[in-house]
Amino acid sequence: MNSPSFIIPPAARVAELPPYIFATTFAMKEKALAEGREVFDLGVGNPDGRPPSDIIDALVQAVHDDSWNCHRYGTFRGLPRLREAIASWYFDRFVVELVPETETLPLIGSKEGLANLMRAYLDPGDTIILPSPGYPAYFGAARLCQAEIFELPLRPENGFVADLDEIPADVAGRARMLILNYPGNPTGAVCDLDFFARSVAWCREHRVMLVSDIAYSELGFDPDHQPPSVLQVPGAKDVAIEFQSLSKSHNLAGWRIGFAAGGPEVIGNLGKLKSNVDFSVFGAIQMAAVAALTGNQKICAHNRELYRRRRDLMVNGFGDLGWHVPKPEATLYIWSPIPSAWGDRDMDFVKDLFERTGVLLAPGSGFGTFGTGYVRVALVADEEAVAKIMDRLAAADLDWS
Ligand code: PMP
Repeated sequence: MNSPSFIIPPAARVAELPPYIFATTFAMKEKALAEGREVFDLGVGNPDGRPPSDIIDALVQAVHDDSWNCHRYGTFRGLPRLREAIASWYFDRFVVELVPETETLPLIGSKEGLANLMRAYLDPGDTIILPSPGYPAYFGAARLCQAEIFELPLRPENGFVADLDEIPADVAGRARMLILNYPGNPTGAVCDLDFFARSVAWCREHRVMLVSDIAYSELGFDPDHQPPSVLQVPGAKDVAIEFQSLSKSHNLAGWRIGFAAGGPEVIGNLGKLKSNVDFSVFGAIQMAAVAALTGNQKICAHNRELYRRRRDLMVNGFGDLGWHVPKPEATLYIWSPIPSAWGDRDMDFVKDLFERTGVLLAPGSGFGTFGTGYVRVALVADEEAVAKIMDRLAAADLDWS
């Protein structure tokens, strides 16, 4: 029996929230699974690898540690040991110095931190500049703040690196926040430190907060040009904050652990907001994060190699079908225009492909206006599954050109 409808309407900011962009594809998948069909979900960037055993051991040890009861409420700003580990990781990786106590903050995943930063700094009607195509959670979190969104186009001809000159003067004048994400989801694009330096200068000139999301910084495929941090730009801490995640680099997506780094004031305000809505990360997960950040980082090298191999396999496989997709330089995503027979109807392409093959991709229009006509393929299938997927695609009798 259906429940009667709830008699209290939600707040406008929730009522006005569009349905989650992947709701349609999730429903397609559920239905197919209920019908007993085989599904290959390359729609969601959910790492299929396991965390290294020393990280799991650190969690288990902390859970059983009688000298310290991690099952109680922790401290709002996270364990001092984790903040120190974050600072030392930043120094080892980027030669960036951070004061652990005031310039780092553990997060329940970087998605949480990004949304709460917006809540801390955006009033209704404030303008935020978001990369388009970009991580869908930016759009949802900005809408929850009832902010006005300006979509900054990321264009293939610029290697999907934003051109800040495309921001109209009136938008630059009123914007409060700009998000940059390199290496990027969904494009797989990378930027160099010069670009970050120009962006810091632009943001300082226009008094706009620069939010750098480096969730994929450890998944750059070029060993000679590893992705930079915005905090490497001298003086960046007065205008920029950076978000990092252990989800993809260390296969810890389900554990919910990330962190923010930046100047004491912005970190302090984010912490102040968070102390009213959460109680930081479970202590045992924080101890595991200490192990992850201070360990040998072999898992990052392993993941880089794994995703690079899978990227080549998929790009070549698609090429054999006649679908020539670009080769990303980082991340676990391929981002490509859809075959021309579908025009710019990316959702129709995703539906047709799924109906015929059980292979599920992410429709580009879900990543913003400038994602229209594209799809994202997540490299989360192992080599055996890729072979099966390619057989299915070849048998599907589709025009891939
Ligand atoms: N930023 C980007 C660009 C992402 O793609 C993701 C996850 N897909 C996140 C942040 C959030 O990661 P998490 O909350 O797992 O740290």
